[in-house]
Amino acid sequence: MANPLFDTLFAPLEGSPRPLLVLADGRVISADAFFRLTARLAHALAAEGVKPGDRVAVQIAKSPEALAVYGATVGLGAVFLPLNPAYTETEVDYFLGDATPSVFLADPARETALRPVADRHGARLLTLGADGQGSLTEYAAGLPETFSPLARAPGDLAAILYTSGTTGRSKGAMLSHDNLLSNARVLAGLWRFTEADILLHALPIFHTHGLFVASNISLLTGGQMIFLPGFDLDQVFAALPAATAMMGVPTFYTRMLDDPRLTRDLVGHMRLFVSGSAPLLAESHLAFEARTGKRILERYGMTETNMNTSNPYDGDRRAGTVGFPLPGVELRIMANGKPVAGEEVGVIEVRGPNVFLGYWQMPEKTREDLREDGWFITGDLGQRDADGYVTIVGRAKDMIISGGFNVYPKEVEEVLDAQPGVQESAVIGLPHPDFGEAVFAVIARQRGAEVDPDALRAAVAARLARFKHPKGYAVVDALPRNTMGKVQKAALRKTYGTRFTA
Ligand code: AMP
Repeated sequence: MANPLFDTLFAPLEGSPRPLLVLADGRVISADAFFRLTARLAHALAAEGVKPGDRVAVQIAKSPEALAVYGATVGLGAVFLPLNPAYTETEVDYFLGDATPSVFLADPARETALRPVADRHGARLLTLGADGQGSLTEYAAGLPETFSPLARAPGDLAAILYTSGTTGRSKGAMLSHDNLLSNARVLAGLWRFTEADILLHALPIFHTHGLFVASNISLLTGGQMIFLPGFDLDQVFAALPAATAMMGVPTFYTRMLDDPRLTRDLVGHMRLFVSGSAPLLAESHLAFEARTGKRILERYGMTETNMNTSNPYDGDRRAGTVGFPLPGVELRIMANGKPVAGEEVGVIEVRGPNVFLGYWQMPEKTREDLREDGWFITGDLGQRDADGYVTIVGRAKDMIISGGFNVYPKEVEEVLDAQPGVQESAVIGLPHPDFGEAVFAVIARQRGAEVDPDALRAAVAARLARFKHPKGYAVVDALPRNTMGKVQKAALRKTYGTRFTA
């Protein structure tokens, strides 16, 4: 095969008049129209100098054009590198410096702010807005609507997705054509996707869930997507009657449950609801079933590995568990260097064609997490019951997942620690009814100093994406420490635990 991902997901769209994307305003984009758009964009990117192996970094709103940029990039043999639109200029500066893309695609509204960043790292800046307008689509207008992809091997890079590190520095997870295709094939089969499916797609497409799990499966199986710009309850409730399946993060389901419009009648025709990216409380799973008669299917995965486990399609979908390892994926639970006995808790390791190639230009980090024999150390704590169901117990590294997005405490702490009057800080995740977890900061003030939480908020807002901002602050004289001098975050979580739920 010349270009595994393009040939499998995008090439079959050419010439097909069937609907592919249905947009929030009712517009329908046929498979063929989408292919032609992808072809034009590929020619435009090639004219801008994109060559096989080059990174194409994008920080743009979700749109049909944005999805087509993914296809165009892959078709050129280049590496798709999506970034959260919430990232600030300082954050983008790091990503462009690390990944050195040949093209950086940004929102037209941020062109002036981001141009110096792109220039600094030698990336050509192009624009694309949520409405599909920008210099990229201008350049693409009138270019050829046929396209022959450039050859790639299954093991070649197709995408880099950044996942933060506990040190506060993001790591670029390198994903190959085969990593992505093998996972999409397994999930499509397991979850019974066919061309008859209409997937309600309200997830962002800069993250593995919306980009790979949702879009790749749908493209692979020839189905349709109701392609919403984001998760908006009115749009979701309006779209549900026409859909057959939906994928979401737990927050989607808790928000739907909080709305009286979620009824058995509304979703009676739906064949599948999938949840993942963060733990779905057993309570939410049961409440959803009680209200709608549908059992959400929970799965577990991560940027580096694609999906690893899933509850069964037929059979018992157990609330609070993430089911069984996917076909072709090995999973073991390790403690003290060996697999645990019985149902003991340990660190989950996985191996299979889904597991990434390593971290971009970080061979040491790669060696730390990816063993030579292919086992990847996920950093998640889990256990497996006698029936083989896996449960995620916690995160070994204290990562916070707020609204489905990862927040690494250290990155926020570093900003807070630098503020006047702050001795040190501890950032923790606290249970939150809407976001799953909310970021919360405990500030130890310098002796005799005053700390102004408004000044902290302003400092954080200037440096970090909104989803990383603490939703609450507590100011104390000193942080609790154990005898080894480590801050006891567990104690802090206990003290402030009901801050957002009480
Ligand atoms: P990301 O790389 O952003 O996809 O985040 C991956 C992390 O999200 C995993 O390592 C888990 O800690 C967490 N995660 C993903 N799915 C689940 C799930 N179903 N239940 C609990 N945690 C999950």
